[in-house]
Amino acid sequence: MILFLITLILYFFSASCAYAYIGPGAGFAFLSSFVILFISVLLILVSIFSWPVRTAILLIKRRKIKRHAKIRRIVIIGFDGLDPDLCQQYMQEGKLANLAKLRQNGSFCPLQTTMPAISPVAWSTFATGVNPGKHNIFDFFTRDVQTYQPVLSSAKIVTAPRTLKIGPLRVPFGTSSTVVAGRKSQSFWSVLGKFKIFSTVLRVPITYPPEKFYGSCLSAMCAPDLLGTLGSFTLFTTQPNDDENRESKGSVVLLAHEGNCFSSRIDGPAIKRNGSDMTLSIPMRGEIDTHRQMVKLWIGKQKQVLRLTPGTYSPWQKLKFSAGFHKPVCGLVRFLVTQVKPHLHIYMSPINIDPEKPVLPISHPFYYAIHLAKLHGPFSTLGLAEDTWALNEGVIDEEAFLKQSYDIYEERQTIFLDHLKRSTEGLTVSVFDTTDRIQHMFFRYLSDDHPANDGQDTTTHKLAVEQAYVRSDELVGRVMQEIDDRDLLMVISDHGFKPFKWGVNLNSWLWREGYLVLEDGKPPGADWFENVNWTKTRAYACGLAGIFINIRGREKFGIVEPSHEKEALQNEIKEKLETLFDEKNDCKPIRRIGLSQHEFNGPYASEAPDLLVGFNIGYRASWNCAKGKVTQDIIEPNRKRWSGDHSFDPPLVPGSFFSNWQLKDQEPKISIMDIAPTVLNLFGLDRPKFQDGKVMHFSPPPSRHGNGVKR
Ligand SMILES: [Zn+2]
Repeated sequence: MILFLITLILYFFSASCAYAYIGPGAGFAFLSSFVILFISVLLILVSIFSWPVRTAILLIKRRKIKRHAKIRRIVIIGFDGLDPDLCQQYMQEGKLANLAKLRQNGSFCPLQTTMPAISPVAWSTFATGVNPGKHNIFDFFTRDVQTYQPVLSSAKIVTAPRTLKIGPLRVPFGTSSTVVAGRKSQSFWSVLGKFKIFSTVLRVPITYPPEKFYGSCLSAMCAPDLLGTLGSFTLFTTQPNDDENRESKGSVVLLAHEGNCFSSRIDGPAIKRNGSDMTLSIPMRGEIDTHRQMVKLWIGKQKQVLRLTPGTYSPWQKLKFSAGFHKPVCGLVRFLVTQVKPHLHIYMSPINIDPEKPVLPISHPFYYAIHLAKLHGPFSTLGLAEDTWALNEGVIDEEAFLKQSYDIYEERQTIFLDHLKRSTEGLTVSVFDTTDRIQHMFFRYLSDDHPANDGQDTTTHKLAVEQAYVRSDELVGRVMQEIDDRDLLMVISDHGFKPFKWGVNLNSWLWREGYLVLEDGKPPGADWFENVNWTKTRAYACGLAGIFINIRGREKFGIVEPSHEKEALQNEIKEKLETLFDEKNDCKPIRRIGLSQHEFNGPYASEAPDLLVGFNIGYRASWNCAKGKVTQDIIEPNRKRWSGDHSFDPPLVPGSFFSNWQLKDQEPKISIMDIAPTVLNLFGLDRPKFQDGKVMHFSPPPSRHGNGVKR
């Protein structure tokens, strides 16, 4: 209120003298500005005087909710990609004692996933309890209807007029860029927050940018690195032309060297200066100490030398990029010398946003990440922190990838367990990605005839996937020690896992069938739809499981009429693709095609791909297909380390569900969509009308005392 009055005084008395033409509308404009002022003051007064009434209503509601609450604390552990079949197998083999205990005393069953069975989609449904048509996330990527290029679906940068908020007034001053969440609808923790039930949400995918609610949240999947990408590593090397066969997820930097000494620079974010882009960088120099078998590194102005032993990761290193008069832009990296001779190779992880000095909000409240960094030391903040692409490209090996993944796992485990020790009520959710990343990269070891095994070692890390399950089970055991029967523990996953042996290039198929047309005389083979003639193309594939129709009035060069013509084309493509046959392997790559109008409902259903491809196990959209590259072959072997996946027809890859309380239903058919309404119900809240999931009912354990609310 004081701020408002000061602004008013400044507004009336500090304006300098100015001359202007007064047109006939000026009287109206002058009057209307007073009307706005009057309404604003009125609103403030109403807001102040109605505050006690509103507070009283909220208190009554909260008391009623407390009376209906069946529980005081809920803990949800998410293991991305934890497969129910593998859980069953390892439990039978006696390798997962804690999960087996949950199965015996509580519940264990498959958890139905979303269409498509992809993490950003499934975790968004988990968070909101709605189908993707209501939360707007249908894949990692969607396409820009103007350029046909893939764009991240979870967040976008929007430049808008900047306003100063004073009560209900918005005073314009310049413009600002903000990151806007792609995920719509309401998370169940924000619903809980309205009734002052506190939630701690750690590393749940698609929580970047962090939303404001009564609780704390650390962002995860799709939080960017300091360069604004999903994760770009750097390989420093003395080997010329080392980047010839590499793809574009990282950069290769040639070190200037003389004898054992070398120098280079670390490139950071680009900033705008005098209207043009300028890349901030930090000089780096080093020396190979052949005597001690190590590499010494000096970064920027630091006097301290960083000693790198080949094969051992450095601790997190702070990088401070100077941006002139502004505060330095801080990042965190780890280095790994992967080879000294004949050429020096130094891997540098993507530059994580420093949680102690975040340049972008990666948590809610903003200081939560800072608090965690002060408490536990530096930690990775990148959404997709495990560097799968560096392993795919052979920049790091399997051993180094595992070490990196488990180091990240340990950081998250420390944060989670420490929080659990301090909390006694409310909701705690923490998602661990390690199971997903390790299965993606090591699934070939579980499948003897996998094309990725050709010419590769198939024994060294045969137990990598099993080990990831054992480590998850150990964490469950530690959590079980922190809670008792009055708390509900749920262990869930967003989808399962199966081998990915063959890539299907849907864009090549569409081209062969005449739905996608290339420019006259242009051969196939260019990335990102470069030679596609959009004025003749009727359909194209984007992302991992979606085909879009080139619709008139929606896409820039759309040619298919949005009503009957679109539906007829959808049905025609569906019919043909469902009968696609892989002669070589004697089977059908596609099990089912879903049409968006039948799969989804809600305000964003029209944003979905028009056809959703449900692949059979073993098949997935090929790497080239995801890159918008038309090739001669439709089906190609997947020889990459990324050898397991989950982008199959959803009923083939359900997630897992464990709980310490028993589900009342003997043969439950539950979905990831049901978690949100269930949690609200347990805390005494009604299921919000917008949610699609149903409430699951539990029988609390017999050993539970009282009603579980009082301690
Ligand atoms: Zn995955």
